[in-house]
Amino acid sequence: MYYVSTRNKMLSFTPAEAIAQGLSREGGLFVPQVFPRLPQNALNSLKNMSYQQRAIYIMGMYLEHFTSFELARATASAYSTEKFDTKAVAPVHKVDDNTYCLELWHGPTCAFKDMALQMLPHLLSLSLKKTAEKKTACILVATSGDTGKGALEGFKDVEQTKILVFYPRDGVSDIQKLQMQTQEGENVGVSAVIGNFDDAQTGVKKLFSDEALRAELAERGYFLSSANSINWGRVLPQIIYYISAYCDLLRDMEIVEGQKVNICVPTGNFGNILAAFYAKNMGLPVNKLICASNSNNVLTDFLQTGTYDRNRPFYTTVSPSMDILISSNLERLLYTLSEENDKLIETYMGQLNNEGRYTVNDTILKKIHRDFAAGCADEDSTKATIASMKQEHDYLIDTHTAVAFKVLDDYRKETEDDTVTIVASTASPFKFSDAVLSALDVETEETGLPLLDLLAETTGVEVPAPLASLKDKSVRFTSDCEKEAMKDVVNEFLK
Ligand SMILES: *Cc1c(COP(=O)(O)O)cnc(C)c1O
Repeated sequence: MYYVSTRNKMLSFTPAEAIAQGLSREGGLFVPQVFPRLPQNALNSLKNMSYQQRAIYIMGMYLEHFTSFELARATASAYSTEKFDTKAVAPVHKVDDNTYCLELWHGPTCAFKDMALQMLPHLLSLSLKKTAEKKTACILVATSGDTGKGALEGFKDVEQTKILVFYPRDGVSDIQKLQMQTQEGENVGVSAVIGNFDDAQTGVKKLFSDEALRAELAERGYFLSSANSINWGRVLPQIIYYISAYCDLLRDMEIVEGQKVNICVPTGNFGNILAAFYAKNMGLPVNKLICASNSNNVLTDFLQTGTYDRNRPFYTTVSPSMDILISSNLERLLYTLSEENDKLIETYMGQLNNEGRYTVNDTILKKIHRDFAAGCADEDSTKATIASMKQEHDYLIDTHTAVAFKVLDDYRKETEDDTVTIVASTASPFKFSDAVLSALDVETEETGLPLLDLLAETTGVEVPAPLASLKDKSVRFTSDCEKEAMKDVVNEFLK
């Protein structure tokens, strides 16, 4: 199977080329030329398998030229019990008779990014071998908090790679910042950018399209690659857990064969929910995909009206990993829904770039309404949801997951749709201890690490080991830069 660019489908690439390159040269994103379909009895066979076995099967459908042996090794290493604190890898927690929570934060950085970023380095290494690439891949990452740490952990000391992460100086939580500043490994770099996430992401995109920089780095033996969710190697591992969650529910007889479920996802860059859409495209029985946003509700408006308009105030919220006004992966959805109309996608993306807005045609909007529902939650209702989940279900959730539960609640009231729903839980509540404590009405003067123990004492839930060990680590990276100076940081890092 080959991959094409969303902005020029005449260009086709092997899976290894798509993963090694990250982003297509003309700015488009790689997508499979044809989506594989789950064979008739696949879910039934997968339900009795481990997470790792499910992963090999599903990734194999997308990665021609990768052997099962290669995928088995990658999967065993990425999803080992050294990396994940549960054998299930992505366990499903039953909240009530028709609500299930898919916990995606049992990995080394306690956020769902681990699900993909533990796998991506293996896929990239294999891809470099298959494309006979001799240069070192320099992974550039713009992060709203969780991707950065996840990528640093995934790539640390991986051969033939270096990784440099930019995060918005005032746009990540204390714990996220400390996680990155204390990162270990010989091939890693971290810099704060004075600005918000979009500044960091726009800066990184500029670096990727800077031909002069490319040429200069090539001479020094480097090429730029991406670990952002625009890389296909990030999207693919995310498809696995939706299919896996469905298989768990089948196995545990919570649902019957063929039964449709809704999937509700707290969304920022549209990567996680896009993977759910792809799972549906493969034939997973899914009714609605519910897209949940925080006060930065550009996606809510878009999915409801068909107009994407980033010209709006940017809010810093208690769910910072969703503080995003340009959701890059939406481009992939539009490509599929427009029936692979690359010229149209190029037009929309050009309008987004020049005017900050575009409106999709009615055919696309109809398809969006068939597959998606959307809603947003403000700060107060997000916090109230954390408190009510704890009180009514004795279940502790983080701020991002709370946005999803609140939006689901609104959706159910509005539509009376009582379809069994899987809610993606994207971070450990301990990663956002300050906001979670405040939601639980615990007042404290403390900030940063002491809040971990306070949250544990308050709730009786244990601090995850990777966060508990932060207090013993030393800070290595404290520098920041203006957004115009990101290129200098790259040059210095790859000197
Ligand atoms: C990245 C992230 C999100 C948003 O995911 P997207 O794939 O960007 O939509 C939500 N919650 C948490 C905790 C995250 O780290």
